[in-house]
Amino acid sequence: MSEDAVGLLRALIREACVNTGDPASGGEIRAVRVLQRFFADAPVEIQVFEAAPGRASLIARVPGTDPAAPSLGLLGHLDVVPVDAERWTRDPFGGDLVDGEVWGRGAVDMLYLTAVFACAVREVALAPNPPRGDLVLLAVADEEAGGEYGLKWLLREHPEAIRVTEALSETGGMRMGGHVAIDVAEKGSAGRRLVVRGRPGHASIPFGAESAAVNAGIVLQRLALVEPAVELGPLWDAFVAARIADPLLAERMRDPVRLDTALGELGGIAGYAHAISRVTISPTVLRAGQAHNVIPGEATIDLDIRTLPGTTDEAVDELLLDMLGDDAEGVEIQHLRGWPASESPIDNPLFAAVSRAVEQASGAPVVPIMAAGGSDARLFRGIGVPAYGFGLLSAGWSYERYREMIHSHDERIDVESVRLTLDALRRVVAARVGSAFGA
Ligand SMILES: [Zn+2]
Repeated sequence: MSEDAVGLLRALIREACVNTGDPASGGEIRAVRVLQRFFADAPVEIQVFEAAPGRASLIARVPGTDPAAPSLGLLGHLDVVPVDAERWTRDPFGGDLVDGEVWGRGAVDMLYLTAVFACAVREVALAPNPPRGDLVLLAVADEEAGGEYGLKWLLREHPEAIRVTEALSETGGMRMGGHVAIDVAEKGSAGRRLVVRGRPGHASIPFGAESAAVNAGIVLQRLALVEPAVELGPLWDAFVAARIADPLLAERMRDPVRLDTALGELGGIAGYAHAISRVTISPTVLRAGQAHNVIPGEATIDLDIRTLPGTTDEAVDELLLDMLGDDAEGVEIQHLRGWPASESPIDNPLFAAVSRAVEQASGAPVVPIMAAGGSDARLFRGIGVPAYGFGLLSAGWSYERYREMIHSHDERIDVESVRLTLDALRRVVAARVGSAFGA
């Protein structure tokens, strides 16, 4: 029942498993305890793994009867990002239910989905007939900081426990025009640090010195002048068709040369359209100098670079060298943490089941899209397990509203979206692992 999902969602919000990126944060063991109680009356195999003290993940598996049937994984994270509590209208960890909306950090990203996933697994476990294939809840720690203490660790240390042949996770269910968007791909990340040098000296006698801070400024200006080329991938056409009603505007968007002239007319979707149509480069952290009176000999510029499927590490370095041109001389490129872009094929039975289920539950067709950001789904794609975003948000949830709501103040989700998502998920589960419920 969707009331169970709403109750579970509120309970998970109240555990406040805030992940700051510090290994000692998170405390997902508290949310795991909530789930253990939720499954207490269900005949399901529960395993709890702790990657580090407090950094717990829970795996709940309902075994199927047919070894040849698919094993469907439902991957939800338990951690949430920090809050600025003063800017919230309500307690961010109160889990209040007001006027049909559940308030709290993580309500959208992604505790509502984790709760719906848990409900579906419990329903299948309690059904009179076992499913054909395995249905597995993977409620994991540390997604918000890259999964080192969550899915990444589980894949390395306990691959048998989390073995599935296909998976659903975040993100999906946002309305894209008259369509419902489902993530089937994600951009990658290829962080770089540019080390820029100069000639240090005393700031009281600057003649003959060359400030690395000034050189960093020159490099930054150069990066701001040139933009990586537009690359329209295989999902672009479907996005334009779903979202852009004006045929002339749509035509310009399909032309890589004219696309950027159209961005200004796209309103709230412009940022997304820009991000998924190219590699993006955002300078984020600058460092130069230690003391007020010393001309720095070295400066660093950290770049957050998001790549497209197929962009290699070498290609990123070449792109930077090209952009810097003459100024590349003396600039050293260091590699920061990253991960490749990932995509799952859409000519796949799980994606077909998701499309059918979402359309049946909402009346709206699905449009497969690429996410500009990253999620744990990429880790499954990385080992060849097809993974898609999931969700079915109510009609008012445009892509822009979704983007505004995640990681923001006053994060909240309507009960109707929880109900719709559970409805659609039951259909997917029935189609893929053939449970007896809902029939
Ligand atoms: Zn998330």
